[in-house]
Amino acid sequence: EFIQKYATHPVYTPPTGPELNAKNWQSESALRMFLNNLTAEVAEDPEKLVVYGGIGQAARTPADARKIVELLLTLEEDESLLVQSGKPVGKIRSHSEAPRVLIANSNLVPHWATWEHFNNLRDRGLMMYGQMTAGSWIYIGTQGILQGTYETFAACGRIHFGGDLRNRLVVTGGLGGMGGAQPLAATIAGATFLGVDIDPERIKKRLETRYIDKMTYDYHEAMRLVLAAQAKGEAISVGLVGDIGDVLERMIQDNITPDVLTDQTSAHDPINGYVPNGLTLVEARRLREEDPAAYKEKSLKSMARHVHFMLELKKRGARTFDYGNNLREFAMQGGEKDAFQIQGFVPEYMRPLFCEGKGPFRWAALSGDPEDIRVTDEALKELFPENTHMINWLEQAQEKVAFQGLPCRICWLGMGEREKAGLMFNQLVREGKVKAPIVIGRDHLDCGSVASPYRETEGMLDGSDAVSDWPLLNLMANTSGGATWVSFHHGGGVGIGYSQHAGMVILADGTDRADRCLSRVLYNDPAMGIFRHADAGYETAQKNAEKFGLNI
Ligand code: NAD
Repeated sequence: EFIQKYATHPVYTPPTGPELNAKNWQSESALRMFLNNLTAEVAEDPEKLVVYGGIGQAARTPADARKIVELLLTLEEDESLLVQSGKPVGKIRSHSEAPRVLIANSNLVPHWATWEHFNNLRDRGLMMYGQMTAGSWIYIGTQGILQGTYETFAACGRIHFGGDLRNRLVVTGGLGGMGGAQPLAATIAGATFLGVDIDPERIKKRLETRYIDKMTYDYHEAMRLVLAAQAKGEAISVGLVGDIGDVLERMIQDNITPDVLTDQTSAHDPINGYVPNGLTLVEARRLREEDPAAYKEKSLKSMARHVHFMLELKKRGARTFDYGNNLREFAMQGGEKDAFQIQGFVPEYMRPLFCEGKGPFRWAALSGDPEDIRVTDEALKELFPENTHMINWLEQAQEKVAFQGLPCRICWLGMGEREKAGLMFNQLVREGKVKAPIVIGRDHLDCGSVASPYRETEGMLDGSDAVSDWPLLNLMANTSGGATWVSFHHGGGVGIGYSQHAGMVILADGTDRADRCLSRVLYNDPAMGIFRHADAGYETAQKNAEKFGLNI
């Protein structure tokens, strides 16, 4: 009955309300968030179980999805479910403060960690690409990346333009699951925005969820709209259907130089993500199936061409940065040897936050009631009245963010703050101020949970960019601490071979057990960021270690 109602492929829906379907709230929370990842409002392509980020999936096959649901419905408090690349493979004996689900996605022994090897296994049904939060069941729609993107654009405004981005034109490619946050983040930061995507359906989705203001197929119309708005200092966003390389080429010909230039096409995956220049979507789909090697070659060449135009615009004055999709590496493989003259966004804009243990703290109201999120927003403002940056963000988000699936919120919090917020949420549940428990999680793109030399750990002070002991320690710390589910993935963000990272989600169900788990996990998790950066020699992290009494 439950499966008929909530988990029939391809129509997945998370149950809502205060009643349990599973045997306890821990399994119920995993069940609801798993189905939430796959629900049509949230997932980019539910039919293929694709949540976001190219082919980032929540389960390997529809049969596996169904089995995961069945197992979560019957899981006891002294059992934990093992999930291997989206397939449930067994249950182990554990205990009530241990994670209910242990997940490993897309991991390969380093020597074999290539897209070719991975795709071969995937084609044979042996693996699934978990991206970051797709396979770890805490993707919350485009909002999930919204604040991080806003923080990046805001930092860019502060650092390069001495304030906000008013009267500045931001240009980018890719308006998919994550990239779709760019228009709203840029306009909140004051900018005029042009985003280019080859797939009109993706732009339509952003229109429906109010992340973008206008859509057009016409280059001239797009330029007229954004240039007029930029001159007037109007923060509007326009989505243009087209190939990003072609659009940048035309802008160069027309002598139009954006103030800020970046990209979030799915460049991390040259076969299943990036669409090569000159192909329609239908042609691309066909070639991908018929001749993946030829597709890849075209894709790499197109990325080289794309980055060549980015470098030209950089020369002309555009503030240009790589936005974590591994575009530079594949452009280099495609023949653009100067690709790495473009800076990554982390060293410049994000690392100072990581040194404070700050990262993408997020939570979802399992009741399904948006009012519960309003209650948590208000409670957070009361808890941290001095944090005006956070309050400003929460107010903007309340006004501008449309929920997708279960109501949720993202808000970057640091060491100390995360633990306080988690315990406060548990109190709200205990006192019945919200209608059902709340789950708290985060992206794997966090201060102490990822090794990714072309993104989160690019240019570390001591050169330890590729050391992946840290995300493994993070996984072990969160497992020991009693997160409700934990995960370890390979290849998220920048693709197979280029990153390893850990995820965690923890339940606040108003119990004393939750208090204990929350206080351990939400202390340890940001502390990992401070340990990692202090060890690499960052002074701010070392000072923060002292400030928070961390045992280094
Ligand atoms: P997605 O697959 O949902 O969207 C990618 C979009 O790029 C699609 O809409 C696709 O149509 C478009 N596209 C592909 N080729 C194109 C081309 N030649 N011209 C124009 N558009 C093209 O992926 P997503 O979830 O939006 O993620 C995008 C990328 O950003 C991924 O590589 C992801 O790993 C990375 N990412 C970065 C961050 C970050 O914080 N920096 C966070 C999440 C994801």
